[in-house]
Amino acid sequence: MNRQVPVLPSSEFDLIEQYFCGGNTRKDVLLGIGDDAALLTVPAGKALAVSVDTLVAGVHFFDDAPPASIGHKALAVNLSDMAAMGAEPAWFTLAITLPENDDAWLRPFCTGMFSLAEQYNITLVGGDTTRGPLCLSIQMSGFCTKPLRRDKAKPGQLIMVSGTLGDAAAAVAAIKKNQQPDDTMRQKLLYPEPQIKLGLALVNYADAAIDISDGLVADLGHILEASQCGATLYRHQLPLSSELLALHSPEQWHYALAGGDDYQLCFTLDPEHAPALKSVASTLGVQLTVIGVIDGEPGLRVLDEDGCELSQTSGGYDHFG
Ligand code: ADP
Ligand code: MG
Repeated sequence: MNRQVPVLPSSEFDLIEQYFCGGNTRKDVLLGIGDDAALLTVPAGKALAVSVDTLVAGVHFFDDAPPASIGHKALAVNLSDMAAMGAEPAWFTLAITLPENDDAWLRPFCTGMFSLAEQYNITLVGGDTTRGPLCLSIQMSGFCTKPLRRDKAKPGQLIMVSGTLGDAAAAVAAIKKNQQPDDTMRQKLLYPEPQIKLGLALVNYADAAIDISDGLVADLGHILEASQCGATLYRHQLPLSSELLALHSPEQWHYALAGGDDYQLCFTLDPEHAPALKSVASTLGVQLTVIGVIDGEPGLRVLDEDGCELSQTSGGYDHFG
């Protein structure tokens, strides 16, 4: 076959038909893939939550990342935004730019994406397919009854996070040094688990929430800015995984404070709600940790185990070890 001939445009519709049609359908999808637009029904009394996130090869994932993990992660990062709003995900669209029509890549990509879609009962309802350097955008829609907004944190509230922090950043650091990352941490980087169930439970207990995609300090900073308040974090309370601790890395605190890609939720709540939430979280099998408090004084302070404030640079936190 002449490789100069653009493969994708001539078989664009076959490709859409072969790979993207036929996922699960929901009753609220009046018209899915195949027309100029999808037609969808939003339940009465609920707000529509809409988000979009793009993944660019070489920027958001390593060029040689397994295609199944790219499919999973593209959807997971969007589901994570729904979780952070306390929204129930329903539908998504996929705009994908592919270098070629490569079955060996597309098949596992779709398996990664559709198995996560199946798990959360969400339906692919449309998209766009083009040829060029690998890039994908997923737009996600869901329903919201009581949104978790970034501007609702109040002084005196506790700051909590789900799961553990810094694992994905530690895996990225190892890969960049041409080292083999720990398997569990590599798995967390490639197949992040969106905290959908926790997000839905949080609407009854928490006020402000965000998902940690760019690192705790940066993302908590968005809550503080939107809520016009400050915070104190206790570094020794940050939840580090046994795998991260086992590295004995001087960078472990840096990974937990400034590393991204964990897709855990960071949220604030009145202290009296913490015990009830913790018991709900334990039934969901989700680890929750109090890591600090919201203050009236602007700015973010990070204290070490002796109560001493750690240094801060304008670009984030640097070398805490
Ligand atoms: P149009 O020219 O009307 O924009 P397209 O040729 O882009 O239509 O797409 C045809 C149909 O296939 C549309 O319903 C569109 O939503 C759907 N579609 C295209 N690409 C994808 C994709 N990557 N995933 C899911 N649906 C897609
Ligand atoms: Mg189109």
